[in-house]
Amino acid sequence: MKKFIPSQIFVEKEALSYNLTYEIIKKAENLNIPVIEDSFKKNIKNLSEQEFFSYSKRTIILGVNKNKKLDSCKPSADFQFSLVSGCPGTCEYCYLQTKHASSPYIKVFVNINEILDNIQGYIDKNKPNITTFELASISDPISVEHLTGSVSKTVEFFSKQEYGKLRLVTKFSNVDSLLNINHNKKTKIRFSINTDHIIKTYEHNTDPLDERLEAAAKVLQSDYDTGFIIAPIFIYDGWKKDYEDMLINLHNKLGDFSRSNLTFELIQYRFTLKSKDIILKRFPKTKLDLNEENRLRKWGPYGYYKYVYPKEQSSEIKEFFYDNLKKYFPNSTIEYFT
Ligand code: SF4
Repeated sequence: MKKFIPSQIFVEKEALSYNLTYEIIKKAENLNIPVIEDSFKKNIKNLSEQEFFSYSKRTIILGVNKNKKLDSCKPSADFQFSLVSGCPGTCEYCYLQTKHASSPYIKVFVNINEILDNIQGYIDKNKPNITTFELASISDPISVEHLTGSVSKTVEFFSKQEYGKLRLVTKFSNVDSLLNINHNKKTKIRFSINTDHIIKTYEHNTDPLDERLEAAAKVLQSDYDTGFIIAPIFIYDGWKKDYEDMLINLHNKLGDFSRSNLTFELIQYRFTLKSKDIILKRFPKTKLDLNEENRLRKWGPYGYYKYVYPKEQSSEIKEFFYDNLKKYFPNSTIEYFT
């Protein structure tokens, strides 16, 4: 798919002290993207919720991340950190709808050297244990990598770490700049995949399945540790056939790599009451099933209830994927089903 080009870039005052800001501004000028040294907030007055959301999703803000205390990121990694917050994708079910309810724009943190220095501190403190970091918990940084180059720099940083490892996940195929750099097997790239039906229905402005699978084959050829997150898994008419077709497609695209040691993370569809409210405002015609009566209520780690499939359906999903992953990817590991 065409790479994301924002409609405008705002530059916060603090960002003016960092080189990456000027690298991005130069690219923006070549692409005729307006660069605005002003407050984003001033420009969103009087917009409706949907207008605000759509304007934000086409906006990049260059800013600085001063947060030094990292959150944990179980079960995926020890800690999470961010080079970007938000994403140009507009997946209707995205949990960032809630987390970034009032800030759905894409914020690029230009103080990358400070961020990586902080990571170095965490790695050094935990030596000789290996510390793992998730890079994509509040964003999809690959979606804007052609503008930032931040993921490549971070992969190279981790390539020199004896005691640190990086993980990231994406719904985009923008990986070419990562293929010929030294990663030293310290970075694992996972692709979030779903059936064509789910991608077309809910994952707007992300790359199609085939492009994600082709990107996965490329990173495997470049010897990256690679995995897949199948999420969110939905039950709908024909779901088993569609998900099996997706796995066959993946198997065919990967060729011999389908027998390598891939990992799979499996996450069933869920929503919270807070996300339901926001989704209905932003996507009033959504086809997502947001009826809590059809769901099992489970206490979530972030202090509110989430609604998942009832036990019987959830077990059916689990059994389906455990059987089929064994069939098509015999040497793979399922890291978790949740
Ligand atoms: S691509 Fe990922 S981060 Fe972006 S909207 Fe979709 S689910 Fe959210």
